[in-house]
Amino acid sequence: MLTHYKYLIIGSGIAGTTAADAIRQHDKKGTLAILGNEPHRLYSRIVLSKPEFYEKSGAPNTLFLKDLGWYPRNGIDLLCGETVIGLDVGDNRISLASGKIIGYEKLLLSIGVQPNPLPDLEPAEARNILYLHNLDQANTILENIRGRETVLVVGGGFIAIELCDLLTKLDKKVISVISSPRYWRSTFDETSSRFIKDALTRNGITIHTDSFIMQTKGKSKIEAAIIRNKQTGEETTVPCTTVIAAIGTHCALDWVKEAGIDCNIGILTDERLKTNVPNIWAAGDCAEYFDLISGRHIKLANWTNSRAHGKIAGVNMIGESSSYRKTTFYSTEKLGLAISFVGDTSRLGKDKRTISRGSYESHAYAELRVRGGRIIGATMINMANELSSIVSLIENEIPMGKHLKEIRDPHFDLKSLLTHENK
Ligand SMILES: Cc1cc2nc3c(=O)[nH]c(=O)nc-3n(C[C@H](O)[C@H](O)[C@H](O)COP(=O)(O)OP(=O)(O)OC[C@H]3O[C@@H](n4cnc5c(N)ncnc54)[C@H](O)[C@@H]3O)c2cc1C
Repeated sequence: MLTHYKYLIIGSGIAGTTAADAIRQHDKKGTLAILGNEPHRLYSRIVLSKPEFYEKSGAPNTLFLKDLGWYPRNGIDLLCGETVIGLDVGDNRISLASGKIIGYEKLLLSIGVQPNPLPDLEPAEARNILYLHNLDQANTILENIRGRETVLVVGGGFIAIELCDLLTKLDKKVISVISSPRYWRSTFDETSSRFIKDALTRNGITIHTDSFIMQTKGKSKIEAAIIRNKQTGEETTVPCTTVIAAIGTHCALDWVKEAGIDCNIGILTDERLKTNVPNIWAAGDCAEYFDLISGRHIKLANWTNSRAHGKIAGVNMIGESSSYRKTTFYSTEKLGLAISFVGDTSRLGKDKRTISRGSYESHAYAELRVRGGRIIGATMINMANELSSIVSLIENEIPMGKHLKEIRDPHFDLKSLLTHENK
């Protein structure tokens, strides 16, 4: 480890590693380090919630994305197991929990997000709650569910649904507890939530809505959870052997804010992923960047976006001035549903409205996010075949004009809007 690097990247995930790769394409010599608090080189976070990880005992060949030799071959110092606790933007240096200080010329913050902890449990009980965000946690889950049958999943968003699907495929009995009346409320409307709820039920998962865990029973191992219904006050003791919480994520930004870097729910950047402080960029899940397409700051949390961010941040760190203008999407097949996300999928926002396309009854449904008469994002159930049309409509900034009503009808061909007259 040097005491000063020309390029210093905090976060060894896909955003940070792609940025390092991009820097090395152009600057072969400048000293470069990737520093991260996990003990691992780049791995696929995506695979942690997929059956192959558990079926292959935590070692599928899709897990690690770089071999250990890649780092020295490219003149990159990989500093694992180091946590940044302070940043001095005046002296251009970071301080680590280990007591070390490292200086930088150019700094990238690609620190991702952290899972929200389950509130209101005694410390001894909280220790038994599992989370699925990193490789070590996935290995703990793997060990914990081996030979145990009943898993209680708390939460109703992306990771919780992935877990329900995964555990069902692993032949576990699954209980789902959500504090809201319906699933994935932050992103989905009632119709989309209903698809999720029905799919969970169809897959034999027991559901407790409007409920939260008050207490767990069992000392070193969980034997049951006491659940209280928020509406009725009724308390139920649910036997279970494992509790996994997936109740959203947050960016841990204390030291970033203290350094004077502008933050909101993420680290604020312009369209070049540059923060308000000279020589500091942010990329990936932690970046709340100015999106040229929707014309506002957005924060996404998907693999493609993080990788694409890494590339742009990397080239800008070597002196280019590239803007990020990309519509990312991803699709996942869960519980018999094809769930897709494209562009800006947040529900709230000034001047933004949601237009429904399709219906529950037709088994295919999309919520199109529209701003200024243009589609800027969508969530879709069983409509993955329309992803590419929607990406084109977003990227080409096609005005919906008189078609705003027609796009509600799933028989109306979205591709027809891409014709020359509409551009
Ligand atoms: C279980 C799971 C399944 C997923 N499945 C999908 C999927 O199917 N499709 C999809 O598109 N996306 C999926 N995602 C999301 C996707 O994995 C993320 O969007 C992506 O990995 C984010 O990459 P990143 O480089 O921005 O951040 P991260 O990969 O989170 O990397 C950030 C790194 O910085 C480290 N760090 C944070 N703070 C500090 C500090 N102070 N000091 C040192 N290091 C620090 C973190 O520990 C972490 O290692 C999934 C996520 C999870 C957790």
